[in-house]
Amino acid sequence: MGKPVIATASLAGCFGCHMSILDIDERILRLVELVEFNKSPIDDIKRFTKPADIGLIEGGCSNSENVAVLRDFRKNCRVLVSLGECAVMGGLPALRNSIPLKECLEEAYLNSPTVDPGERVIPNDEDLPVILDKVYPCHEVVKIDCFLPGCPPSADLIWEALTAIIEGRPLNLAYDLIKFD
Ligand code: SF4
Repeated sequence: MGKPVIATASLAGCFGCHMSILDIDERILRLVELVEFNKSPIDDIKRFTKPADIGLIEGGCSNSENVAVLRDFRKNCRVLVSLGECAVMGGLPALRNSIPLKECLEEAYLNSPTVDPGERVIPNDEDLPVILDKVYPCHEVVKIDCFLPGCPPSADLIWEALTAIIEGRPLNLAYDLIKFD
């Protein structure tokens, strides 16, 4: 049997959760022995070339492309993990959820003092992803199997969860891995 396959993606996130994956330090050498990476910014593979055992999703869904990528991950990953607060509950991008989308766009592209007066236009190229009315956590779009909290989740939490899933162990996360006070 081959190594378990891992895929990762960043949707409406800041890549901080991906940085936390890399924060496992020297354990990354064990990780590459244990698993094979497929679609991921870590190896720059753009499309699934085979089904994955584990998908790690950073960020929630803020636009139509986020939704398409997330559905593609659900289709291709046996275990899908919401990695970090943005994936779990929308996180910082979801601060816009209490403000109508039209107002957000006007503030960003028309009224902001940093916008060049000659360039006050809301982007509307048909090739751009459609911005959603609000930012959705991943489990409101597809079924999620595992939630790892934190902004970002610590490297130790990610390591413990990943190795448990790979080895088929129950996810018994110690309290100090998931407390943030
Ligand atoms: Fe960045 Fe925090 Fe969101 Fe992760 S949870 S993508 S670190 S803002």
